[in-house]
Amino acid sequence: MHIELDTPRCEGHGLCEEAAPELMHLDDEGDLVIDVPDVDENSDRAERARAAVRVCPVAALRLN
Ligand code: SF4
Repeated sequence: MHIELDTPRCEGHGLCEEAAPELMHLDDEGDLVIDVPDVDENSDRAERARAAVRVCPVAALRLN
């Protein structure tokens, strides 16, 4: 499962980082960096990736 960021859409709220801190972080400039873009579909990481997608207020994250 791949985590995809729609960069122009992202507003740097950081809610996704709170939901999945081991998968993504905001850098010093406030830009989101996906540290682990590919996760196993049935893993805890996948659950947290789904949670990150759900909490993003501007729907900038997608899974495929
Ligand atoms: S929650 Fe959405 S808008 Fe905020 S940093 Fe994450 S992807 Fe970007």
